[in-house]
Amino acid sequence: MTEPGTDPLTLARDLLRCASVTPAEGGALGVLEGALKQAGFAVHRVIFAEPGTAPVENLYARIGSDAPHLVFAGHTDVVPPGDAAAWTYPPFAAEVAGGKLFGRGAVDMKGAIACAIAACRDHLGAHGGRPKGSISFLITGDEEGIAVNGTVKLLQWAAERGESFDHCILGEPTSAEAVGDTIKVGRRGSLNGTLVVTGKQGHVAYPERADNPVRGLTTLMGALMAEPLDHGSENFGPSNLEFTSIDIGNPVVNLIPGEARARFNIRFNDCHSQVPLKILIEKRAQAAAGERVRWRIEWEPSNADVFLTKPGPFVDMVVAAIAEATGRKPQLSTLGGTSDARFIKNYCAVIEFGLVGQTMHQVDERTPVADLATLTAVYRKILERYFA
Ligand SMILES: [Zn+2]
Repeated sequence: MTEPGTDPLTLARDLLRCASVTPAEGGALGVLEGALKQAGFAVHRVIFAEPGTAPVENLYARIGSDAPHLVFAGHTDVVPPGDAAAWTYPPFAAEVAGGKLFGRGAVDMKGAIACAIAACRDHLGAHGGRPKGSISFLITGDEEGIAVNGTVKLLQWAAERGESFDHCILGEPTSAEAVGDTIKVGRRGSLNGTLVVTGKQGHVAYPERADNPVRGLTTLMGALMAEPLDHGSENFGPSNLEFTSIDIGNPVVNLIPGEARARFNIRFNDCHSQVPLKILIEKRAQAAAGERVRWRIEWEPSNADVFLTKPGPFVDMVVAAIAEATGRKPQLSTLGGTSDARFIKNYCAVIEFGLVGQTMHQVDERTPVADLATLTAVYRKILERYFA
């Protein structure tokens, strides 16, 4: 009989059976604690809270005390299953059928955490139970939510304990079609704002006595959509501004509204940082507004800056491990939404590499069982090369 948690499928199934929808721990960190302690890690479970948010439990585990220090990061929280009746198998049953493991979190990202632990156990088993350096797990329960009581605070907590990391692998589902075809070496930044134009409310039959803000709003929106923010950089595609909602909230047909608002999001590359980008947008709005339109932009605070882990020995090592285990040469991508890598990058070099993400957040989220073995093999090769 296999010990619990020694093979990635068993461990992944144990994790999938925990209904750890953000911010609930759901037993998932307990499963990890057991598996990591068994492998010789010192495990800490820490709860972070702040007024107005739900407290969230997180886990930090380490084995070894020397450099180099490699950290596997990830999250055990999952998005809700949605309509459970729409699933072929119950979302928290961890059913295996047709060579596939079904369940919420299978690819995003309990599966990858199971693979990382299995790879570590195998590596440690082959090297007398201790790494030639240190291995850590930095696991949060607050990634899919507002991400306030998760990785940010866990990194601060670890730093205050004197922990320092050299390199991090975040197991988000970065692979596109096959395990190892894509790793993420960076992510775009994200910024939200609301464009507000004020006019003068009045009767629609007497427009001369009113000032319709819709006219100004559409002018400014047109201007902000017209010109590209840049033409991309060496490692990133072009930045993009996208309007997501136009809000006037006028319930009647005979009233010119006094105010019109439009929300937008910008995904920006490494040509920009937040403050100069805001100035650029406001300059363009002002140029379109001239003296006629009264406008302002309400910016939302953002903790999603752009990051890029530059090509170098660490990225080369991961690429070589992937090639050795899968025969694939991964694409180094910077596409997609934000992830906790935006916080980790302030502490050490980070890349993201995990399972095939096609079914993440969907009904019938699933991964081929064979992919778990492949990802475990890649992580294992990474450990071998890292601690060579
Ligand atoms: Zn995720």
